[in-house]
Amino acid sequence: NLAVSEGEILGHLYAKGIKPDRGQKLDKEMVKMVCREYDVEVIDVGPTKIEEMAKKIEILDEEDLDNLQDQPPVLTIMGHVDHGKTTLLDYIRKSKVAASEAGGITQGLERIRFKCLLMALCSHVFFLTLLDMSCVPIIVAINKIDKEGALDRVMQVMQELSSNGCQPEDWGGDVPMVQISALTGKNVNDLLETTMLVAELQELKANPDRNAKGTIIEAGLDKSKGPVATFIVQNGTLKKGDVVVCGEAFGKIRALFDDAGKRVDDAGPSIPVQVIGLNNVPLAGDEFKVVDSPDIARERAKERAISLRDERILAKAGDGKITLSSFASAVTTGKNSGLDLHQLNIIMKVDLQGSIEAVKQALQKLPQDNVTLKFILQATGDVSTSDVDLAVASKAIIFGFSVKVSGSVKSYADNKGVEIRIYKVIYDLLDDMRAAMEGLLDPVE
Ligand code: GDP
Repeated sequence: NLAVSEGEILGHLYAKGIKPDRGQKLDKEMVKMVCREYDVEVIDVGPTKIEEMAKKIEILDEEDLDNLQDQPPVLTIMGHVDHGKTTLLDYIRKSKVAASEAGGITQGLERIRFKCLLMALCSHVFFLTLLDMSCVPIIVAINKIDKEGALDRVMQVMQELSSNGCQPEDWGGDVPMVQISALTGKNVNDLLETTMLVAELQELKANPDRNAKGTIIEAGLDKSKGPVATFIVQNGTLKKGDVVVCGEAFGKIRALFDDAGKRVDDAGPSIPVQVIGLNNVPLAGDEFKVVDSPDIARERAKERAISLRDERILAKAGDGKITLSSFASAVTTGKNSGLDLHQLNIIMKVDLQGSIEAVKQALQKLPQDNVTLKFILQATGDVSTSDVDLAVASKAIIFGFSVKVSGSVKSYADNKGVEIRIYKVIYDLLDDMRAAMEGLLDPVE
């Protein structure tokens, strides 16, 4: 603690040309600057919130934390055909050119690359489930407000969005919504400013000095080039010759093209590139990862293909959901609301390949006279949203052994009514499972 007044601290910052807003939290650099004035050493304890957040969305690994650099944000515009995406992009491009001709592209405008901008139209609202929305911040642009009668419909659009879980900031939610006309340019500046603000708050960081990973934003089959996919690199640097795996597809990158269609040798964080060299067309929204060899890529793609096939089969199985404790109470009361009380479906995520068999065997040793355990999925890795989807489809509970559940996956599961139980000690897991099978389990908090 520095025994100095707030005013004095602000004075030092103002002297350096920094004007924090009232109540704004000082970032690491600001704190260091102030402490230097008083000859006080700064000890950095642990990762910052941004680093924690990035780790949460599984983009950064532990080893990246020492080598983080600013990552330019990327703007993704999504909307139905005719909502005005092209018109908006043209307008933004033109204003960028105009700004640069006038001698000053604003730094912020240059930096806008990312953030998800959802276009809603006054006639109908568009919803997208492709990207995990709980991770990517969304700004909604309500377009074509220049049209006659459009303003009357804005409220209706906002209501529709809000009833789909997209709460406008103006109504106390966290999704900024800007009413624009891409044609006349009305409020487009407001939209860009909002985008920059959201981008600033994200303080995206990445480590360019590692194997690339990121997300596929679109993919298709080109008559002459074969499978083509647009990747957005979220961490690391993607290079020609890298071996990648993306969902069920894999391959060696033969060529990369930037957004102007020009061949490039590599692409760093936040850079969208079109790649060729994959054996198959991957799914938009899937993750891609550079791996060490074609054999590893082939193996990973095969595993993914098998798990997708199982998910598809199970998705047809039903839409019920259960929790371990509801299963337990159903066992006790005999009120089963359609559940098969003789079988408990389990999705099991563990930290190491070697733990799968060990945990499974321990569970299988539990007495299964009344209730049998069925393993729907057993895999390594943290619990993901697709595990949650699978749990819904197969009326399963998820348990993890020494794995993590990110905040976004947790809220996704909460929304879907899926229970995730994480254990570190095998005996706790066995106790709970035995209790559930005997109808004697307390719900998790
Ligand atoms: P996209 O399919 O989403 O890329 O939509 P376009 O940008 O091609 O726009 C579809 C049509 O809507 C075109 O005729 C545009 O001129 C028109 N349009 C786009 N934005 C606006 C707007 O703000 N106001 C009006 N009146 N028309 C617009």
